[in-house]
Amino acid sequence: TYVVTDACIKCKYMDCVEVCPVDCFYEGENMLVINPSECIDCGVCEPECPAEAILPDTEDGLEKWLEVNTKYSESW
Ligand code: SF4
Repeated sequence: TYVVTDACIKCKYMDCVEVCPVDCFYEGENMLVINPSECIDCGVCEPECPAEAILPDTEDGLEKWLEVNTKYSESW
């Protein structure tokens, strides 16, 4: 899955939301999040993010952001 990280805070450009084929972006408290169980790992959103806030969760140190994405996307 891909995760949204802190570079998104107060950004919300929404470019990513428009390109996602499965509509798995949700609105968190002050940033957007990706629902990890809906994301199909297509990677289309990553280059669309002007803040470079979207990263694959295979990168180091993103456990915390995966938790944040999970928490806020499942409260809907
Ligand atoms: Fe949506 Fe693809 Fe980005 Fe996952 S990787 S959030 S499916 S655009």
